[in-house]
Amino acid sequence: MPSLQENIQRVRENIASAAREVGRDPGEITLVAATKVQSDETIRAAIAGGITVCGENRVQEMTAHLESDAYAGAELHFIGHLQTNKVNKVVGRVELIQSVSSEHLLEAIDKQAAKLGLVQDVLIEVNVGYEESKSGIAPAEVEALARKASELPNVRLRGLMAIPPVAGEEGNRGFFREMYQLFVDIKQKMGDNEADINCLSMGMSDDYADAVREGATLVRVGTALFGARPPMHP
Ligand SMILES: *Cc1c(COP(=O)(O)O)cnc(C)c1O
Repeated sequence: MPSLQENIQRVRENIASAAREVGRDPGEITLVAATKVQSDETIRAAIAGGITVCGENRVQEMTAHLESDAYAGAELHFIGHLQTNKVNKVVGRVELIQSVSSEHLLEAIDKQAAKLGLVQDVLIEVNVGYEESKSGIAPAEVEALARKASELPNVRLRGLMAIPPVAGEEGNRGFFREMYQLFVDIKQKMGDNEADINCLSMGMSDDYADAVREGATLVRVGTALFGARPPMHP
């Protein structure tokens, strides 16, 4: 079995070659290690191996890793479904909340950030495949939520995130392309002169190279780095 170090290397090379294929600078793309179910030890090894951003999707696991300082040396992003009653465990503890999908949640984040005296960076999660099982808002609702974010003083919208459907034969390039269009569109509609809106998070182990070809700036990769996960407990 290839080592974690070799996996990190390989994924980085794949990102770089996909970027070059389409004339992008590989430096524009950040590899986010999706560290769910991994131990403190594995997370530390990944960071020692060059991982600069960890993405967590469970508040409880994240809190435990934070307590043991497992993410030291890396940024932390929250990438999972966030319940409003748990925002106080996430706001101010992560550089970026990637998965904001309702006005209600956005307001709760803003309120907690205000309490802590900080501005929380967020992405809007888009349900680009219109799947009932997935969180995220429909593409048509993104602009309204982006406008809402711009009215709240303690959140800063940095871009969009998507988890497209499980890829079929032809892969997810169509969804990724659609997300890129939406990203460009929102940036323009929000009059983003400060270039705050510069994050497009899409692509996972099976399709991150395609996501890079279509304009991703953040790819979230778990299995291709750490190997297959045991089945998730509900
Ligand atoms: C687990 C997870 C990933 C990574 O999935 P892999 O297929 O293991 O690469 C990416 N994004 C989110 C939101 C996740 O929960």
